[in-house]
Amino acid sequence: MGGEPPLTDAERQRYQWQLWTPGFGEAGQRRLKAASVLVTRCGGVGGLVAYELAAAGVGRLVLAHAGAARLNDLNRQLLMTDAGVGRPRMDLAPQRLAELNPHVAVEGVAENVTEENAARLVGGADLVVVCAPLFRERLLLNREAVRQNKPLVDCAMYDLEMQITTVSPGRTPCLACLYPAEPPGWAREFPVFGATAGAAGCLGALEAIKVLAGLGEPLYGKMLLCDLRDMTFRRTTVKRRPDCAVCGGLPPSPVDRTEP
Ligand SMILES: [Zn+2]
Repeated sequence: MGGEPPLTDAERQRYQWQLWTPGFGEAGQRRLKAASVLVTRCGGVGGLVAYELAAAGVGRLVLAHAGAARLNDLNRQLLMTDAGVGRPRMDLAPQRLAELNPHVAVEGVAENVTEENAARLVGGADLVVVCAPLFRERLLLNREAVRQNKPLVDCAMYDLEMQITTVSPGRTPCLACLYPAEPPGWAREFPVFGATAGAAGCLGALEAIKVLAGLGEPLYGKMLLCDLRDMTFRRTTVKRRPDCAVCGGLPPSPVDRTEP
C-alpha cells in the first residue's frame, strides 16, 4: 500500500458493502480516497458518474459544466432539482453530492472545457471521465490526458445506444486513434432517456473505480457498444493508429504487441 490516507471508522462503515468486493478491500478504498477525478459536463451522463464516484468515496471530484439548469434537463440530469431550474448547475451539483457524502471534496467549475482551461483541469486530476456530448471537447480532453499521461474514461451515448472505452496513454489506443477528426453532422441535441444516459454514467464510473483501485479489467483497447433497444452488449477491439496525431509518438503499447 502506498501513502494513501487511512480510513476512519465512519468510512469503513459507509463503504462496508463495497469493501466486501473481492480484489478491492481496504487497499482499494484507500486508493479511491486518495484520488482526484475530473468529470467534464455534469449532465445526464456526467451527473451519474459524479454521483456514483461520490457514493464510492473518491476523495476529490472536480466537475466542469457551464450554464444553468433548465426544465428540459430534468429528465436526465439527476443532480439538478426542480427548485433549482435557472440556478447554475455548478451550484446545484456540489450541494447534492455533499448531501450524499460529506467526506468527498467537490469543486464545481462553471466552465466547459476549452483550449484555455483543458491543461489546468486535467493537470489537477489523477483520472478524467469525459461525458461531453461534443467531439471537440472529447478530443481536446483526450489530447491533454495523453500529453499528461492521465487515464481517461470516455462515455458516450445517443438515443438508446451507448459506448464506453478507457484510455491508458502509451498502453492503449486513444480517442484520436478512433476519431482522427470530428465526425461531420454530429448533433448538439439528441433523443435521450435519463435511464440510457445514467446507464452510460454508471458504467463509466465503474471503469474509473476499476482503474483507480486496480480492480478487474478496464476497457483497455476495447470499446463496449450497447444497443439498449434490444439489450445487445458487445465488446470490440480498438487499435492504435501508428500515425495518430495525439499518441503516435508514444512507444508501442503492450496491448498492440500482443495482437496478430
Ligand atoms: Zn491515438
